[in-house]
Amino acid sequence: MVHDVIIVGGSYAGLSAGLQLARARRTVLVIDAGQRRNRFAATSHGFLGQDGQAPEAIAAEGRSQLMEYPSVTWVQDFVRVASAQPHGFSVHTECSGEFKAKRLILATGVVDELPAIEGLAERWGTRVFHCPYCHGYELDQGRIGVLATSALAMHHALMLPDWGATTLFTDGVFTPDAEQQAQLQRRGVSVESGRVRCIQGERADLQLHDGRVFALDGIFTMSRTRISALAQQLGCELAEGPTGPYLHTNETRQTSVAGVFACGDTSLAAGSVALAVAEGVRAGVGAHFSLISQG
Ligand code: FAD
Ligand code: MG
Repeated sequence: MVHDVIIVGGSYAGLSAGLQLARARRTVLVIDAGQRRNRFAATSHGFLGQDGQAPEAIAAEGRSQLMEYPSVTWVQDFVRVASAQPHGFSVHTECSGEFKAKRLILATGVVDELPAIEGLAERWGTRVFHCPYCHGYELDQGRIGVLATSALAMHHALMLPDWGATTLFTDGVFTPDAEQQAQLQRRGVSVESGRVRCIQGERADLQLHDGRVFALDGIFTMSRTRISALAQQLGCELAEGPTGPYLHTNETRQTSVAGVFACGDTSLAAGSVALAVAEGVRAGVGAHFSLISQG
């Protein structure tokens, strides 16, 4: 069977794209490996109507509503290979074999590569975050650390005083110049230039190599983000974002490869649940228009 559309990634972006196509009575196959980016957090914030909900609950409700449509099929699996074929596209999964479709939507999100600091990974999503809008409010104006992974930490450091007393830990990654120092001072940010040894304790206490420990309620840092290998296999053009590459798309969310669409974190410089849902609408409609105009 050749599906109208295969959507790789069945989280917020993929579900939202699928919903538009299902409502147009198109056949849709969603293939999802179930590794949502926000699975480390207990609550999701900033998405209207779902603020404070569990990330899994939002996705599960979307999934159950989508699966009410009879033209939608779901396969829990990981797509290893995707390629263009005369009929459209073919994908090979880890466990369930090959599937074919006329159009492909990549809603594969990103993978966060975290700074290699002892105690950081196990606090990701509970005490260590990347997005102040998502998790800053819950720190109750407590003590906040910004852990630099590049000079872009300035961005975090200047924002975070709105959420609590902020210390920038430069960790030897960069040295603020005179103008940056003045900006930090204006925002009341303290700066510590020592190398970071580890994060420890019940919350997110940060220890420097010189032995000093800073009691913190939360830490903000920037991961490097990695997109799916499928994009490269298909030959999709990339754009360079502040944390890593993302898929370049046009106004219909088609990539540089005709028939391949993309939505959500994988095609944004910086994403969120709300943006993934919105971009999914555009990609779903974009793929539908493409089927109408080119069969
Ligand atoms: P994802 O939700 O990451 O889903 C991608 C899906 O594609 C996954 O299920 C994955 O397994 C699947 N997939 C990938 N490759 C393949 C493949 N080859 N084959 C099959 N399946 C594949 N945003 C907010 O708006 N509010 C918050 O409070 C918030 N908190 C966050 C907390 C943390 C710790 C992190 C890291 C992020 C948070 N975010 C938050 C951001 C949010 O998680 C993302 O913006 C959102 O998940 C993007 O949705 P998506 O559908 O594009 O990708
Ligand atoms: Mg998705």
